[in-house]
Amino acid sequence: MAEEKKFNLLDMEDPYKEKKYILTSEEKAESRFGKLVFPFPQEDNEVVARGADEDYVIHPQAYFRGASQIPGSEFNQSYQIFVKPFFLDRAQHRHVKDEFLVFLGASFPNVFDFDARIEFTIGKDEEAETFVIDKPTIVRVPAGVYHCPLNFKEIRKPVFFLATLFTPMFGGIYDMPDGTTRELYYNGPVQCKYNKNKKCDSCGKCLQESWEK
Ligand SMILES: [Zn+2]
Repeated sequence: MAEEKKFNLLDMEDPYKEKKYILTSEEKAESRFGKLVFPFPQEDNEVVARGADEDYVIHPQAYFRGASQIPGSEFNQSYQIFVKPFFLDRAQHRHVKDEFLVFLGASFPNVFDFDARIEFTIGKDEEAETFVIDKPTIVRVPAGVYHCPLNFKEIRKPVFFLATLFTPMFGGIYDMPDGTTRELYYNGPVQCKYNKNKKCDSCGKCLQESWEK
């Protein structure tokens, strides 16, 4: 019985091995898929937790600012390394989509090399549950669920923190002290896409752009 040779994707050759069209940055600006490839700008966190040492975070940090950077993106993400205790987020809030928080060790290359104590609350009032994060952990915050405070209480080894929110721009719904509800957006200390002299004010105009030519 002849043994049937199974097709294995791992054995495939690079189909563009012989003829590869590598784009220069000038060509990328005009190309069909160029808007889908976005090099991270170096950013410095401008929101310093009150009372915290400014060097609680390693500089620079990377942030993916969602649809303003890659048109059509329905998520945004932060990549920060925290090295000192600080109170990141005091205000309870909700989001219109899911949020995921990732806590890993930043003593690379072993992400399980973790020595920190972080407190994170999910739920509000009598429903509130506070979790201690003292090992590599991912948390899902479903859309509409109240969460925070998020407090990095003890940091003995650097922590790699990623926050991912499945909306085109970062933002949340906050209950204000006067009883009103406010939707607040924040797109980082970036320049306006349409006006080089203006800082982004999270107006959302660029979120309507398409990645397609
Ligand atoms: Zn949140």
